[in-house]
Amino acid sequence: MTRPTIVAGNWKMNGSVAMAENLTEEIAAGAKDSKAKLIICPPFPYLDAVVRTLGDSEIHVGGQNLADQPDAGAYTGEVSGAMLRDIGCWYAIVGHSERRSLYGESSEAVAIKFGLARDAGLVPILCVGETLEQRESGQMEAVLKAQLTAVIDMHGVDALQDAILAYEPVWAIGTGKTASPEQAQQAHAFLREQVAAQNATIANVLPILYGGSVKPGNAPELFAQTDVDGGLIGGASLKAEDFLGIASAAS
Ligand code: PEP
Repeated sequence: MTRPTIVAGNWKMNGSVAMAENLTEEIAAGAKDSKAKLIICPPFPYLDAVVRTLGDSEIHVGGQNLADQPDAGAYTGEVSGAMLRDIGCWYAIVGHSERRSLYGESSEAVAIKFGLARDAGLVPILCVGETLEQRESGQMEAVLKAQLTAVIDMHGVDALQDAILAYEPVWAIGTGKTASPEQAQQAHAFLREQVAAQNATIANVLPILYGGSVKPGNAPELFAQTDVDGGLIGGASLKAEDFLGIASAAS
């Protein structure tokens, strides 16, 4: 089964309007022959600048989060899936480990957001991953299973049909420590097996991205793994050269 390679950049809380425009221009200019499908996820205030700069480019835009409420209303500070779609997004990251650990998002809250993203016409990029402590105490598979199952239990396995999964070991995010290609493959294969146990067809087409200190130097080996279908890139997505270098690892 050949799945497309997807490379998504998560800018986190970085940038300015000028930076967003410049970086987007550089990425768009360098991505013309990219074999990877590229997604940029800037902070909310810069979504408009990025969407406008991209124009009719094939690069798509995503939100880094969305509200846990379906309808407009009195939810100060929140941004709904419908608003993201309205401004030109096609994707939304849900359950990033920083949302889970810093903002207390439970797997159930993440599952609600996953469903709301889909309802709004967005492709959810569902992040799952274990901490170092969980890995070292042999809980990696249980943690991944619980985070994934929360979504399947709430929405059914069919909801993964138009979704992206991202394995992001917490210990590798922004730390410079990358999972080895074998560690990434093992976790990705486990995740795919969990989905396959319920629907093999969906499991076969489900893109599973790896995230955690991906750089142009380690991307080729990671992306060469059977079940690694690209990357969710934090730090290295803030430099066009690095982001494009990672994208060029797509075969
Ligand atoms: C991320 O923010 O999802 C991430 C993987 O960050 P980094 O690439 O900086 O480790």
